[in-house]
Formats: sequence, C-alpha cells, structure tokens
Amino acid sequence: MEPTSVTAQDQRRAGLFRPIALLLLGALIMLVTTCFYLLSQMDSSARAYEKAVVTNSWQRTVDQYGEALRSLAHQSDAAGHFARGDGRWINQTIAAPLRTMTGANGITLRTLAAGVTPAPRTELTDDSVALVLTAPLGAGARTNTGLMIEATIPMDPGLTRQFADHHHLTNLRAVPGAVVPKSAVGIPLTDYRGQTVAMMAWTPSDPVRDLRARLPAILMFFLSLFGLAALYFMRQSSTIASDLIASEARARHLAFHDMLTSLPNRAMMFDRLRQMLAMSRRYYGETAVHCLDLDRFKEVNDLLGHHAGDELIQQVAKRLTDLCRDSDTVARLGGDEFVILQPDTTAAGASHLAERVLKLFETPFELEAGAVEVGVSIGVTIVNNPEIEPAEALRQADLALYGSKDAGRNRTTFFEPDMDAALRMRRALETDLRLALANNGLDMVYQSQMDTRGHVGAMEALVRWTHPEKGPISPSIFVPLCEESGLILDLGEYIFRKVFEETATWINMRVAINVSALQLRSPMFMAMLTRLVAEFRADPSRYEIEITETALLGDDGTTRDNIIMLKQEGFSIALDDFGTGYSGLNSLKRFAVDKIKIDRSFVHNLEANDEAEGLVDAIVKLGRALKLDIVAEGVETEHQRDRLAACGCNNFQGYLVSKPMPASEYDQMHFG
Ligand code: C2E
Ligand code: MG
Ligand code: MG
Repeated sequence: MEPTSVTAQDQRRAGLFRPIALLLLGALIMLVTTCFYLLSQMDSSARAYEKAVVTNSWQRTVDQYGEALRSLAHQSDAAGHFARGDGRWINQTIAAPLRTMTGANGITLRTLAAGVTPAPRTELTDDSVALVLTAPLGAGARTNTGLMIEATIPMDPGLTRQFADHHHLTNLRAVPGAVVPKSAVGIPLTDYRGQTVAMMAWTPSDPVRDLRARLPAILMFFLSLFGLAALYFMRQSSTIASDLIASEARARHLAFHDMLTSLPNRAMMFDRLRQMLAMSRRYYGETAVHCLDLDRFKEVNDLLGHHAGDELIQQVAKRLTDLCRDSDTVARLGGDEFVILQPDTTAAGASHLAERVLKLFETPFELEAGAVEVGVSIGVTIVNNPEIEPAEALRQADLALYGSKDAGRNRTTFFEPDMDAALRMRRALETDLRLALANNGLDMVYQSQMDTRGHVGAMEALVRWTHPEKGPISPSIFVPLCEESGLILDLGEYIFRKVFEETATWINMRVAINVSALQLRSPMFMAMLTRLVAEFRADPSRYEIEITETALLGDDGTTRDNIIMLKQEGFSIALDDFGTGYSGLNSLKRFAVDKIKIDRSFVHNLEANDEAEGLVDAIVKLGRALKLDIVAEGVETEHQRDRLAACGCNNFQGYLVSKPMPASEYDQMHFG
C-alpha cells in the first residue's frame, strides 16, 4: 500500500475538523446571545406586568378606603359631632379606624361643601404626598346637611409599608414629581385634574435575577456538554476520517495494482517504464522490457477450474517477485500475461534474467488440485533509444513474445526490427485481402480426383489469389492470415458463393470445398450456408465439405452441432490431410465422416522409404473397416499411384492426374 505521510494525513484531518469546530463555536455564541435576549425580554415583560398589577391593586385599595370612609361618614349622628366639633368622637369613630385600615399616621378630616373638588385624588403638601378621599357626611334626608367629609391620608411609610407588605413590593414609597428614582419603577398618582403629581415608586422585583445569577453555571454546564459532544464527535469523525483516508489509499492501490496478485497493473507498469526511460535519458543504461505469457494456462483453467488458475497466477507472481531485484518491476497485465521491467541493464543482463525466468518454470507448481507443469514464453526488447514511447516498447516485447510462441513456446525471443517489417507486411497483405474480397479479386480452381479406371467422380475446389503487385500468393499463406484477422468468415462465404455459382451446371460431379476449423466454430456458419444453398438452389448431396483434423480437436459444441447439421442438410464430410493430426477412430465414428484424404506427405514418402508404405497400408485398412472412401492427395508419379493401388487405395488426386484448373476450362472440356 502506498504510504500516506503522517503530516499529510493530519492536514487532511484538520481540514475536516475546522468546519466542525467553527460550527460548534457559532452554535455556542448563538446560545449565549439567545439566553441574554430571552432574559431581557423576561425582565421588561415582568416589569410591565408588575406595574399593571400594582396599578390595579392601588386602585382597588383606594376604592376600599373610599368605601370605608363612606360607611364611617354615613353614621346618622356624624354631622352633629362634626357640628359640635366633637374631636374625641371624630378621632375615635372615624380617624382611628381609617388609621388602622390604611396604616397612615396623621390623617386629617374636615367638612366642606359638596362637589368642591373631585376625589379620590393625590395632593402634594409641603413636598409630602397624600391621598385625599371624600364622602357625604351623615345619612338620610332628615339629617342630611349637604356637607362632605374630606380625609387627607398622607402616603407616609406607614401607609406604603402596609400596601407593600400586602403586595410583596420592595422599598415602596410615594415620591413627589413625575419621575421615579433610578433603578426603581413606579406608577403615576394624579391630582384632581388628572395630572401626575407624584409617583408611587418601588424597586422592581427581579424574577429572572435567580436565573441571571445561575446563568454562568447553566452556560458552563451546556458548554461542557457541548465540549463533550464535540470531543465525542471529533473522535468519531477522526475514525471516519481515518477510514476515509484508508479507503482512499486502498482505492488508489487498486487503481494501480492487480487485485489477484497485488502486483503493479498495466497503468503502474507504464508509469514505471516512463520513469525508467526518463532515468536512462539522464544516465547511462538500457531498459529491458520482458513480456511473459504462460503456456498451457488455458488448459489449467479449463481442466482444473478458475480457482486453480488463480492459484497458479499467484504462485507465478510470487516466484517472479522473489527472483527479480527490488529495482525491477514485475507487473501483471491481466490473464496470464506478466511484464518485467529491468532498468539499467544490457542485452546480456536481459538474456540472463530471461534464462532464470525460464528455469523458474522447470519446477512444477503445487496447487490444491495437484501439481501442474506450465511453461512460459518470453519476448524481450532492449530499449536503447530512451525517446521511445512506453507503449511502443511494450509492443516490441509483445511482438517478440509471439515469435517465441510461433517457434514452439517455452523460450525467449528478442525483438528485432525484422519482426516489425514482417508484421507490417502481414498488415498490408491483410488490407489487400480485404480489398480483393470486396472486389471479386479471388478465384477458384478445381482439381480432379480419379479412380483406378480413369473415372473422375469429384473435383476439389481450391482458392487462388493473384496479388496485383506481388503475384500469386499461396492459400497456405493467406488462409491462416484470414484466420488470424477474423476475415475467415467473409472468405468462407465468398468461396461457397463462387463454388455454387461456377459448378451449378456440372452433372455427375461431386465438388469438395475446404472449410477452416474457425469457420466451423462459428455459430453463424450454418445460417450462412443454408442461405446460400437456397440462393443458388444448390444440391448439398453434390458437395463434400473438407475439414481438417484440427477442427475436430477440442471437440467444442458448436463444431459438433455444425457438422451434424451439415450432414442433415445432405452434405458429406471428408477429413483432409488425414494422418497429420490426432483424430483417432473415435472422432471418425462420432462425426460420421464419409471420406478420408491421405496426406500428401505420406504419398511423397512412398518413394523414399518402406515405412511409409506400412503407414498408408494401415490407414487404408482403417478406412475400409469403417467403410469410408479413401483418396490419396499429392500423387505426382505413377510409382506412387501403383504403390497406393497395391495398398488398396483406389482414388487419386495430384499433378499426375490433373493440375487444378479454372471452372471455365472444365466447362469447355465437358460442354464444349
Ligand atoms: P489441401 O486442402 O490439402 O489442398 C491440397 C493442396 O495440395 C493444394 O494446395 C493443391 O494445389 C496441392 N496439390 C495438389 N496436387 C499436388 C501434387 O501433386 N503435389 C503437391 N506438392 N501439391 C499438390 P493449395 O491450393 O496451395 O492449398 C493449400 C492448402 O490451403 C489446402 O490444402 C487447404 O488447406 C488450403 N486451401 C486451399 N483452398 C482453400 C479454400 O478454398 N478454403 C480453405 N479454407 N482452405 C483452402
Ligand atoms: Mg483440401
Ligand atoms: Mg490436403
């Protein structure tokens, strides 16, 4: 795993935490301001409420006093006592109860004419505040004097204490003027004109005082709660952040490494190669690129399963990394392809490493499913031109690898510029071939098969290509080229078309058509063929499909289905180049082959050794036992023909009988 430096990790974590810390701080400031705002709101509304309550209570109290005075003054003999100036009675019967009730000292009473000034009211006398109440003196019409009694009740500490005690007010007092002292609140007391002459002031109660006093403690509590939450949160986020960083590192690792082996992948390999080439630009030294491809890996996968395949790949990776130096790079490009980058080396150094890699594969690999032996094909290019692109270097090594495979695997091939030239030539040929297919540039020739009595019962169709510049090119060169480049299906269809068209009028003449193994492996093959049969109204019983033994090898389902369908359609099957492949009796029987064609190498050898005769003899006997037609290919001499006839082979194809000829020539011979 790529190490992420500690400071970098811390920085990333700090980057994650900064916004969280800011958020927490903001929340805290908001909390404190909200607290203070709410407190002041509570304060002012508490005061307004208190004032309203006090105003109302004072009003009621004044009413009560008034009511009391009225009932005292109502006494029927009151007027008489007042008229007589009976101070004792007045004091005892009216003033004393009022004093008791209001708590005020020095209440003065006097009589006056009704309706002089309205009461109740507040008055100022010598800077002291008094409440003035009135009531009619005496009761009943008989004793009604029309006089009023006026009580002046000083709002002295006696009165205010009583009221304050009653209403739980602090420091209540009546102050002259319309202003309340600082830090006090008050309600106005008005004179007979309704003007404020004094204030009843008191120190406002402070319902939130407790709260305010406790606020620091509450805030501290919340602060620590916040702090704890933040701490917890940070720890959580720290774990999350670490996980994030780790999974990011993992993702980065995955982006540059192969999952199965943890080796560098293609992307990283290219990166390293680029670096190595840059280094070799600055310093001396060449870089070797080794492309490795396991031989028979597919078999391991197919026979033992993917798990065994994976296990094998892992073991190969381990052996390679153990073998290489730290300065080398062992990468896996996928499948069974590996690359070794060997910096600062020479051709000899690269060759030495490749030898050792080949040796690694001499020891079998111990898999769970058992020991397996696989080889490796290696292609090497030595990059001595540091300006070369990494992709080009890899391509060269890959080309050399194909050289190793072509030459029989389990070996090393070094890239040579010739390979490039050969590849370029093949590419050019491929392009030309495409053109020829599109422009009707390929022709068919037909070669006769004759029996011992000189009768020609069949002709083999063979394709011919005359390149506009290079002249005739053998099908043994361009047919494999088509197989490699995917053109084979097009070529196959082209040939069927041509043959059906050219041989449509032939009478009593079977025509053999060669079909490549790759064509038979295509699920589209039969659809194409039946379409053409319909199009040309061809009679399948007149046609023989020549397949090679390799087509039967591997025995894949599609090939078998195609062969069965060919037979159902009415085509017969000939096994071409018989004796060179591996098909045994089994496949001959299973695929219901109708004919075998003895390969021309056996025929050729009939001249040279007797052993060949024994082989041909055996093949003929086998064919006969299976009731197959037998044809010998490449019969050039009478000697060969006689020997073949002696072995029991009665059909011959070869230059002795006839060279392949165009259809027009055949038509001329038969139809004039
Ligand atoms: P093949 O099917 O075994 O064809 C027989 C080859 O032997 C032909 O070579 C033919 O010209 C050659 N030959 C015939 N008589 C003699 C002889 O007496 N002596 C010698 N030495 N050779 C003789 P050709 O036409 O060059 O074809 C080579 C191979 O290319 C064919 O072998 C076949 O495998 C493939 N091929 C040819 N035409 C087609 C085709 O239309 N389709 C496909 N798929 N393959 C074809
Ligand atoms: Mg053939
Ligand atoms: Mg042949």
